[in-house]
Amino acid sequence: MTDPSNLARRGLMLIMSSPSGAGKSTLSRKLLEREPDMAMSVSVTTRPPRPGEVDGKDYHFITPEEFRQLRDSGGLLEWAEVFGNFYGSPREPVEKALAEGRDVLFDVDWQGAQQIAQAMSQDDLVRVFIMPPSVEELHARLRKRAQDPQEVIARRMAQAANEISHWPEYDYVIINDDLDKADAELAAIIRAERLKRHRRTGLHEFVRGMTREM
Ligand code: ADP
Ligand code: 5GP
Repeated sequence: MTDPSNLARRGLMLIMSSPSGAGKSTLSRKLLEREPDMAMSVSVTTRPPRPGEVDGKDYHFITPEEFRQLRDSGGLLEWAEVFGNFYGSPREPVEKALAEGRDVLFDVDWQGAQQIAQAMSQDDLVRVFIMPPSVEELHARLRKRAQDPQEVIARRMAQAANEISHWPEYDYVIINDDLDKADAELAAIIRAERLKRHRRTGLHEFVRGMTREM
């Protein structure tokens, strides 16, 4: 008989978006630290590695020709050109992870989220939008991060309204006021989504085994 406490499941794709500074990276980091069955999608890029960057960990570094082939054969779930370099999320590792019951986290903007939603089955997606509690707090967090010059902060604030306007395209919205509360809400979402019937592929065998005995 199948072990009911450990039924096979299909993994999920967690797509997180937010205006810059709302706390998406902080929440992602906390999530990945405690979830051994969840990993960040590793992008491909045509940009050369920076000192210290590891191929296969930070990015898969590939040539423009390899990128073109991958993209044109449908091997990317989404892609973009940023400052003359190409970036994309490869499809194959995601399909493999989902089939093996592992979850994949995507940290993408609304455009990336839309592209992924078109490339994959809706059943695989869980879309979460992270909101700041207020405009003042968003501004304060961008300043607190203190790694960007003033004009970059101003540009991020200007882009925030556009990013936020896409909130209805997400399944869940977390207002990141208190970090521990936001983190607990994210954990609750993942827990419930993993329990959805259509993801619990082991249920078929479990129920079959049970009805056979009846
Ligand atoms: P993003 O990835 O969305 O751009 P970060 O995770 O880098 O944002 O967060 C921006 C800043 O705000 C960081 O300094 C982070 O420590 C801080 N921060 C994140 N969440 C909270 C919170 N709930 N309360 C206070 N500060 C926060
Ligand atoms: P960097 O070269 O500094 O690592 O990244 C530059 C930009 O590319 C960042 O804004 C980052 O979010 C974006 N980027 C990185 N990987 C991907 C990806 O797979 N898809 C898309 N659309 N953008 C990406």
